[in-house]
Amino acid sequence: MFPLERLKFIPTPFYYYDTEVLNQTLQQLKKEADKYGFIVHYALKANANDKILNTIKQYGIGADCVSGNEVKKAIETGFKPEHIVFAGVGKNDDEINYALNNSIFCFNCESLQELEIINELAAAKNKIAHIALRINPNVNANTHKYITTGLEENKFGINLWELEAVTGALKIFKNLKLIGLHFHIGSQITDLGAFKSLCLRINEIQGWFENHKITIENVNVGGGLGVNYHEPDTYLVVDFASYFKLFNDFLELRPDQKVHFELGRAIVAQCGTLISKVLYIKKGVNTNFAILDAGMTELMRPALYQAYHKIENISKDSQQSAISNSQSAMYKYDVVGPICESSDCFGKAVTLPETQRGDIIALRTAGAYGEVMSSAYNLRNRVKAVYSDEL
Ligand SMILES: *Cc1c(COP(=O)(O)O)cnc(C)c1O
Repeated sequence: MFPLERLKFIPTPFYYYDTEVLNQTLQQLKKEADKYGFIVHYALKANANDKILNTIKQYGIGADCVSGNEVKKAIETGFKPEHIVFAGVGKNDDEINYALNNSIFCFNCESLQELEIINELAAAKNKIAHIALRINPNVNANTHKYITTGLEENKFGINLWELEAVTGALKIFKNLKLIGLHFHIGSQITDLGAFKSLCLRINEIQGWFENHKITIENVNVGGGLGVNYHEPDTYLVVDFASYFKLFNDFLELRPDQKVHFELGRAIVAQCGTLISKVLYIKKGVNTNFAILDAGMTELMRPALYQAYHKIENISKDSQQSAISNSQSAMYKYDVVGPICESSDCFGKAVTLPETQRGDIIALRTAGAYGEVMSSAYNLRNRVKAVYSDEL
């Protein structure tokens, strides 16, 4: 799947994006969401690379932003303001003003005090801000604790016991218009049962609003759909069909309600690979280290939340397909980066063919939360990107 003959002449490390995989994913996504009239917003924080954003925009989907600069980037890329939603527990005044000036579709609000401030800032501009309440549904996403967001112990959203106070306050805040409810329970969710629990909780919460005679036009169920990091080639495109069908089956909608989704990872993860070269092989006490020229500065997920990425030696894999597999011995390596941190490790005891200095290593499924999280720590160069359709 990798054009090794071209990639091997490009200075490493770099992100390689397979635009065909991205387009296939977007086509599937659109096809399945359109079946039910569901509205999808792309979560820019997963990957805000210009070319990726431009490709996604062409499919007519909206943007989900979590900072003022993301709102700005979405607008500059050509996402329509009326298709932009803005979430985040700590929106500052400049960010709110920017979004108000651009009349975005909706602020997903996470606290009573935030509502008060948006109301004040909107009043100063003589505007009505469209808001959705981000409700913490207390549903466990069964994912890593650092990417779980829908439990009462998390900092995100308005808790259920606060709804009475919040809806009371909304009657006083004249420059806010409640247009929806918003939920987002976490990321890399592979158990669709968590989304079913979310649907059932949303149905209960909708009942509460109905009892209080508050009409809700939009239900935003957030994102979080997980991808397969272990077998990327088998599961290049996420099973969007089952995902959207589940919401269609279990969400009890009121007349004319629209359902919104905010997907990040499921759209961009599989199209991206971090390409790196082996600098050194070093013998350790119990293990061998394969030291790469890419590290946590280029791909932070393993260091940040012990995330798994499939590691392939694509120089040797291509030779091996020529000879019979049984002839080639496999070895175990701790695959690490050059950064001065012990957490700068991509994988322990990774089984690879015999690996040498100069071999090209692919870290798969790195399109989401990869390049966007890259940093200049250790004064590293900013990681570059290469696209399959430009080689
Ligand atoms: C991060 C985020 C998303 C996207 O999450 P994925 O797991 O990438 O789909 C959606 N909505 C909100 C509010 C987020 O913070």
